[in-house]
This record gives sequence, structure tokens and C-alpha cells, in this order.
Amino acid sequence: MLEQGRLVYFREKLLAKKRELEQQVKSMEEGGLHQSMRDSTGELSFCDNHPADMGNELFERGKDVALRDQARLQLRQVEEALQRVEDGTYGRCQRCGQAIDEERLEAVPETPYCLTCRREVEKEGRPRVRPVEEEVIRPPFGKLTGDESAFFDGEDTWQTVARFGTSGDLADWDPDGEL
Ligand SMILES: [Zn+2]
Repeated sequence: MLEQGRLVYFREKLLAKKRELEQQVKSMEEGGLHQSMRDSTGELSFCDNHPADMGNELFERGKDVALRDQARLQLRQVEEALQRVEDGTYGRCQRCGQAIDEERLEAVPETPYCLTCRREVEKEGRPRVRPVEEEVIRPPFGKLTGDESAFFDGEDTWQTVARFGTSGDLADWDPDGEL
């Protein structure tokens, strides 16, 4: 468990980060996002714009949205970490209950997980790298609607193809060892 002094230290660190992120989210909402495309590209040149420029503008806006969402997500994590400071559970991994390295807390004070669990959680969060066996064994949560099952069929087909790799790998593929 963290000493009281360290706890106060991390609490301050989290509060500073919270203020910073709140500011960031706020300025992104006031600035980039609420500004219409007309404003940011310039009204007069709007019609003269090459379609590629518009595409780029859309891309930039998409990036703004992604950055804002990321900042919001981080802000929520900081708030949750502050809650854990209040609860007296801060510094413990929310998954395995082990103490999180202080070095790690220093670098990412809002982290809910130890490094090992972080990696596990990241793995779980990426269905494409899940072992194929697991997909077969684990039943889907809830009933799939027609549309969803069609989507998953598509995924399975893609994964089957992807497992064989690119056409370059396919040349070396020798399932029966007869080559
Ligand atoms: Zn853990």
C-alpha cells in the first residue's frame, strides 16, 4: 500500500492532470470542433476548393474528434483514479489486486492496472488476435440478430483467409506435407 505522503503526491498529480485535460477538452470543443468547415476553410474560397482539399479537411476534423474522444477517455480515467484515492484503493491493480509499481504510477498516474494486466486487457480488447479455439468454444453473448450474424460470418471468412496470410505465404502453405 502507498504511504500517505505518496498518496497525497499522486493525488496532486492526478488533480493537475484533470485540470489539464478538462482544459484540453474544452478548448477542442470551443475551437476546432464547433467551428464549421466553412469557417476553417474560409467562406470565399469554399467553392474553389479542390475536392482533395475538402477530403483533407474532413480528415483533419476526424482527427480532432479522435483526439477529443481520447482526451475525454483519459479524463474519465483520471477521475476514476481520484475516486480510488478517496476509497483507499489507489495504487492497487483493479484486475489482480497487486500493488502497481510506483514507477508506473509516476508515468501513468491514472492507470487502473499493473503492467501485466494492462497487456492482458489490451489483448482481450483486440478480438482479431484472440485464439481461434476460443471463438469456437465461447458462445456469443446474447442472441445475434440476422444482421450481426452476417457480419460475424464475414469476419470469420476474413480471418480464415488472413490465417493463410498473403498470397506470398500461400505459395509456401503445405497442409498435407506432400510438397
Ligand atoms: Zn494486475
